[in-house]
Amino acid sequence: MELFYQECSDHCLKVTPQRVFIYQELLKATDHPSIDEIYKRVRAYLPNISFDTVYRTALSFADIGIIAVIEGGGSKRFDANTGLHHHFRCLKCQRIIDFDCEYYDSIKVPDELQRRFKIINQRIVLEGVCDECAKTE
Ligand SMILES: [Zn+2]
Ligand SMILES: [Zn+2]
Repeated sequence: MELFYQECSDHCLKVTPQRVFIYQELLKATDHPSIDEIYKRVRAYLPNISFDTVYRTALSFADIGIIAVIEGGGSKRFDANTGLHHHFRCLKCQRIIDFDCEYYDSIKVPDELQRRFKIINQRIVLEGVCDECAKTE
């Protein structure tokens, strides 16, 4: 949470109770929730919060870099783990699972891309069928 308060004040984002709840909910989640799921969870504490508020709040967190927006099969998904890690995405149930891999961390970005683009984040995304879905296949 320290990072949260620090980044909010650095970026002049007012810390409201609603924002604290939404961030805490994101921090707790390890399943890379979509905005619909975040909204559902936050509403358990804040029944009157609007979908729009949750949506805009999540996007402003992403703007200041305390959460990451990741692509997950058509819908935006959110990740409060902004440290270096990689993802496995299940193409059936759309689960996104974190994993660490030192080898992937240190894969070299191709020179051509290094020249053209400023690389900010290096994440490997593996796609396939997860263990749960494989059971039911
Ligand atoms: Zn699956
Ligand atoms: Zn992640």
